[in-house]
Amino acid sequence: MPVRIAIDGPASSGKGTVARLTARRLGYAYVDTGAMYRAVALFAQRRGVSTSDSEALGVLTAGLSFGFAWNGSRLTVYVNEENISELIRDEAVGQGASQVSIHPPVRAALLEQQRDLASAGGVVMEGRDIGTVVLPDAELKIFLDASLDVRAARRTAEMTRRGLTASLPQIREEIRIRDVRDRTRPVAPLTQAPGAIYVDTSSMTAAEAAEHIAQLAEALA
Ligand code: C5P
Repeated sequence: MPVRIAIDGPASSGKGTVARLTARRLGYAYVDTGAMYRAVALFAQRRGVSTSDSEALGVLTAGLSFGFAWNGSRLTVYVNEENISELIRDEAVGQGASQVSIHPPVRAALLEQQRDLASAGGVVMEGRDIGTVVLPDAELKIFLDASLDVRAARRTAEMTRRGLTASLPQIREEIRIRDVRDRTRPVAPLTQAPGAIYVDTSSMTAAEAAEHIAQLAEALA
């Protein structure tokens, strides 16, 4: 029976790549919930809504309709039918996402859509609070981690690959700040869910981590 796999972990822990490879290997759907928070940050910026205006952000979020198109290798994210996949990828939007995500009305508005997206099962859902809040009864919960230095190096390499300028010390500091904010916020902080399996990818490739998770899922099915 196809199961629901919840993958949580800090920024640049490899969650995205590992979740995608796991979904592809198992033929499952893939949902990137970070993209939803990034989209909220993007639309807040476009519409001039402050990242500290909780109520206005809640109203804005409730008006966003998300669509995910997953073809087994690439995820395309639509909001109100606009393809925003590329627009949400830069670190400034990531920082904005981390700021809007502390507001309960934003989280509440996304929670329902996230549960709907997982309701059919056979899904890999990735984020910060999937095992703790969104799908606490997921059949398989993973907490994916890697050291700060490894994560900063991976993120720097990824940006360089995309032709962007990247300074390792600056990226390391940005990731560190985002981690602290994500782990210490009062609502749905990043933490290992009860029953989650801890996977440290510092000295593992994404393919190895995905294979490990896929085998754990197959053992359950
Ligand atoms: O995973 P990603 O880096 O795209 O997430 C961007 C930000 O969105 C995170 O730093 C976090 O603050 C927020 N987020 C969240 N809950 C999730 C997924 C992401 O609060 N389930």
